[in-house]
Amino acid sequence: MNLKNKYFELCYTMRIHEFSKVDQYKNWTYGQARKRYKSLNEFYQDELNINSDKLNKLRKEFKIFDKLYSKYFNEERKGLFDNPENFLKWYNKQKDSCNYCDITQSALHEIVKKRNGNLTLNQKTKRSKGTLEIEKLNPSEGYTYSNSVLCCPFCNNAKSNLISEEDWRRFFAPVMKNYFNSILLK
Ligand SMILES: [Zn+2]
Repeated sequence: MNLKNKYFELCYTMRIHEFSKVDQYKNWTYGQARKRYKSLNEFYQDELNINSDKLNKLRKEFKIFDKLYSKYFNEERKGLFDNPENFLKWYNKQKDSCNYCDITQSALHEIVKKRNGNLTLNQKTKRSKGTLEIEKLNPSEGYTYSNSVLCCPFCNNAKSNLISEEDWRRFFAPVMKNYFNSILLK
């Protein structure tokens, strides 16, 4: 197994981000890893057989993936994250905008600002930052690359599992665009 794959396995598949996970992975009794390593970095260096410079370099290479992983990973979407390169390829195709109404991430942040720091009208934190979401084009299929797109919280919430992709594009996406323009031009 090459270095990148091994790192991916430890960091993302096994999710070794604390000493107790190292104990589990090594089949050690609880507390052994903490005794043996001053930091988790030491464990990674040891396991991958590399020095700290190399580990830092590796971490840098995974930086963008890592950011997106913490933003979007959940068990249901696991398949999307199986291979960082494929995931990034898919992500880069999304152009940082809603697949339906085209609103960009930066325009969504602009709306958040105009609403005094919250996208939501009732101050609930879910969706408050206006982050683009991963949405399934066809709700009865899973999260595959061909069935997943980035979309804005407005389209995602309203389309839900009630309106088909085709109908959403046809009837509602244009209206959504008008709505956003009216907010942004205010
Ligand atoms: Zn949208």
